[in-house]
Amino acid sequence: VITFNHVNKWYGDFHALKDIDLTIHKGERLVICGPSGSGKSTLIRCINGLEHYDSGEITVTGKTLEPKSLKAIRGKVGMVFQHFNLFPHMTVLDNLTLAPRRALGMSKAEAEALAMQYLERVHIAHQADKFPGQLSGGQQQRVAIARSLCMKPDILLFDEPTSALDPEMIHEVLDVMKELAYEGITMICVTHEMGFARKVADRVVFMDEGEIVEIAPPAELFDAPEQQRTQSFLTKIL
Ligand code: ATP
Ligand code: MG
Repeated sequence: VITFNHVNKWYGDFHALKDIDLTIHKGERLVICGPSGSGKSTLIRCINGLEHYDSGEITVTGKTLEPKSLKAIRGKVGMVFQHFNLFPHMTVLDNLTLAPRRALGMSKAEAEALAMQYLERVHIAHQADKFPGQLSGGQQQRVAIARSLCMKPDILLFDEPTSALDPEMIHEVLDVMKELAYEGITMICVTHEMGFARKVADRVVFMDEGEIVEIAPPAELFDAPEQQRTQSFLTKIL
């Protein structure tokens, strides 16, 4: 369980998150959408401490997110970014084994066995010895997902994982995300892929100007939004 309790965040005097109250259940699949600059990235980056918050409280699996719990919480929370953030000078396999070896103290053999298992899961094991630059965007993003999985997170955060991809590669990444979604991991995805949201999300959050405007199951939020701001956003993107 992740809870936001009256969370506020400012960048200087810009109020980026306004009194966020949100409970995300274990195993839930939550999609966050909203216009550019509405605070989506800020909100999910708070969950693994990439951004700090100024007031209120965030808890992750029962622990208050604060400096002394940050390391333990980061160990449970994986994150996949828009730009895959792979190390270009390392092979796919080495990208995957780095954190398990350094942070979990795994042996090389153990980390490599684990990495190959996750590369199989994202259907890319045959590319293990390549460098990221030799792969397509969709393949690189699947490697980034496998890399997160190697840390055995309880919670996986995705920040627009398909928005830097060519259209024909979006599906291969969404398919991998769908497979994960059905395995019970808690997933929080910032995405405008509404087909994915409809199929996979338990609830969809609509954010605007640093606020949660509306939160509902996808069928309700997309087909019968209650708030005017949600309606006008949806008419722009659907
Ligand atoms: P996008 O869809 O474009 O990714 P977003 O909903 O993810 O947008 P955020 O990146 O969370 O939005 O940003 C929310 C607001 O906070 C924006 O107005 C942005 O300009 C501002 N902001 C974000 N990061 C910083 C920063 N490091 N310093 C100052 N302002 C920032
Ligand atoms: Mg963003």
